[in-house]
Amino acid sequence: MRRTNAVISNISDVVNIMGKESYDELRDALEEVCSEIAAKFDFYDKGGRPRKAAILDIIASSTCVSCLSRRFSETANPTRIDGFYTEAHRLAVSILVEELYDKLSSEGYSVSILNEAETKYGKVDVLLKPTNFGIALQYGTNELAIEVKTGVSMSIPQVFRYLLDKENHTVILWRIRPRQILSFDGEHLNPLLKRFMKTAILRGRRLLTASEHTACKHPAPTNWSPVQTELQEMLDDFSVGIMQTLPLVTKTAFEKLGVRRTANVPNEIELHDSETG
Ligand SMILES: [Zn+2]
Repeated sequence: MRRTNAVISNISDVVNIMGKESYDELRDALEEVCSEIAAKFDFYDKGGRPRKAAILDIIASSTCVSCLSRRFSETANPTRIDGFYTEAHRLAVSILVEELYDKLSSEGYSVSILNEAETKYGKVDVLLKPTNFGIALQYGTNELAIEVKTGVSMSIPQVFRYLLDKENHTVILWRIRPRQILSFDGEHLNPLLKRFMKTAILRGRRLLTASEHTACKHPAPTNWSPVQTELQEMLDDFSVGIMQTLPLVTKTAFEKLGVRRTANVPNEIELHDSETG
């Protein structure tokens, strides 16, 4: 009887999800699935929050719940190589924050860098907020996220993941080693983005309700571990890549945000009476 009830409740959940078209509802349902997965696999960051980004990456990586389950169990501890990427990422973000601050200030904008501890920042033209993935920028009603990528691989689900936080968000991907600046407009990708959310919710629920003892015959992916010369190459490539692409990522950010790079800054840009659109 208990089993029957569980199945019925699952089916009604699925019907519910498929009928939901609101972006906010989908996002809330996805949050919930992520929280449950975090609880099941003890997948939390140091602050005790579910590692949502990593959870979505793993969910998107396979349709096999057995493989997903194994990946969640094995990815709990970060490796030494993750440490290298974390450091490189931190360095790139810190360089970009100062570059944006300096360029905007020299154009006559008042700029504030918002740290988590601060809740009030007074009246400023442009707000810079360092995040886990890069930097969020706010100028009047315009918002933009710059995501910093230190590796060479990139997946489509990863792009969607970046767009999930806010509907109609614009995201710039700064891919340092491939020397690419890509921008994605959430408004244009909205239908596919919602489909991606539904897929992640449904698969997450399938994972949560899967029997503990199911095993598949898919081979486990081998862990790639670079030797010292490869690490050296990565670091060299990364350093050169930062310097080569910093001007372009800054320029693209200003264009998308709508700040004007001219010496004469018009009055209309001030936050308290800025024009929208
Ligand atoms: Zn499998």
